[in-house]
Amino acid sequence: EISQLKDIIAHAKEYGFVYPSSEIYDGLQAVYDYGAYGVELKNNLKRLWWETMTRLNDNIVGIDASIFMHPTTWKASGHVDSFNDPMIDNKDSKKRYRADVLIEDKAAALEKEGNIEASKSLLSAMGKLLEAEDLAGIRELIINEAIKCPISGTTNWTEVRQFNLMFSTQVGAVAEDSSTIYLRPETAQGIFVNFLNVQKTARMKVPFGIAQIGKAFRNEIVARQFIFRMREFEQMEMQFFVRPGTEMEWYKNWADTRMKWHKALGIPEEKIRKHDHEKLAHYANAAMDIEYDFPFGFKEVEGIHSRTDFDLKQHQEFSKKKQQYFDPEINQNYTPYVIETSIGADRLFLMTFCNAFVDEVADGKSRVYLKFHPAIAPVKAAILPLTKKDGLPEKGKEIFEKLKYDFNIIYEDAGSIGKRYTRQDLIGTPFCIAVDHQTLEDDTVTIRHRDTTDQVRVRIDALHGELSEACSF
Ligand code: ATP
Repeated sequence: EISQLKDIIAHAKEYGFVYPSSEIYDGLQAVYDYGAYGVELKNNLKRLWWETMTRLNDNIVGIDASIFMHPTTWKASGHVDSFNDPMIDNKDSKKRYRADVLIEDKAAALEKEGNIEASKSLLSAMGKLLEAEDLAGIRELIINEAIKCPISGTTNWTEVRQFNLMFSTQVGAVAEDSSTIYLRPETAQGIFVNFLNVQKTARMKVPFGIAQIGKAFRNEIVARQFIFRMREFEQMEMQFFVRPGTEMEWYKNWADTRMKWHKALGIPEEKIRKHDHEKLAHYANAAMDIEYDFPFGFKEVEGIHSRTDFDLKQHQEFSKKKQQYFDPEINQNYTPYVIETSIGADRLFLMTFCNAFVDEVADGKSRVYLKFHPAIAPVKAAILPLTKKDGLPEKGKEIFEKLKYDFNIIYEDAGSIGKRYTRQDLIGTPFCIAVDHQTLEDDTVTIRHRDTTDQVRVRIDALHGELSEACSF
């Protein structure tokens, strides 16, 4: 299973999806760059999320807030005081780990072995220790579970300490007048501080939502699961403001809606599940993760949290500005409750990539391809003239010109047709359009379907419609 992750990482690099950041300098831990096909896939995922949120829901609008925020924001949100994770060091490798992640990895491994009960009781024990902030107890659990350092293989652990995950930097030209600000560790606060701006200017009535896509930064310690846990990553968050007392209904509603979204993207039923939190954050009255069965076990892709009125109340207290809504239907002022859906674009990318990766043997030959839903595939179609002569390239380019405004397509006329098909399989192009001699006679082409490799003849003037239909979500 873990070797499958290795194959996936290698494939992502080899075929232009994801590279380690600053690779010529041997990379930077937990930071990655997206290549030619990676950026297309990521943009498609982001667009799909954005459109589902803001277009399919007439009561959700978007914003784009800054990464830098007033430092008091993070006092109010609780991040300065409690955005801590328990850290532990291995004395032999001198490597530092997040204690909660070590436990989660162990639980995921137990579950993979079929030891469901042991996995559950481990998570629940850890949940209780985290709740009680019992650092010594956490260390004891790690030792009792004989958790080994992935590098040294030993169980020689230090004490557990709390570690704040926020990155800080200075604003101001000279040291004397500079002050510390943070790189946002989540995008949500940009939504909360703009709650009234948006509510008033976009004339929103509760219940309504604000959606945002943007970078977030966390000084994550463990970094062995590729783009699952990064120091610089992108979040897609939507805060949904509701009347107090209705939050549980909306919480369930959003959890179901988001599950459906993942399934519509092609994630099979048995690979995705809801998982209630063992430990609730200080601001939440209900919380669950949507988990995907990664090569390293079931892990969080998206969080659905009922955040109560905690954030708005905190900002009201710290800013001394009223953060309330007048509800004309019940003639009352109140601080809305909030349901949050929060997903990492990079983690969604990894899930999509793992789910699409097929390495199969058919007719005695092995074939690797990426079976992306056409709506998110980086390249929708490749136009491939059979040969480089007899006017086939000209005909191919004519088709390319017709389709390029509406679809990301590739034109390629070098190399054998078989090799060109293989190349498109490897980047997950759902359709290969071959231009042959018959095309010159009757204006038809063949479409080769990636997953079945079946070929069908269609008229050139039907291509646009066929692609549009296949690439819709
Ligand atoms: P974890 O426990 O895995 O650190 P979290 O519960 O702190 O995650 P949230 O704060 O709920 O995560 O963040 C919401 C979403 O943002 C997560 O579901 C995940 O998709 C994404 N995310 C969080 N941290 C990272 C990271 N370091 N790298 C990539 N994506 C991340």
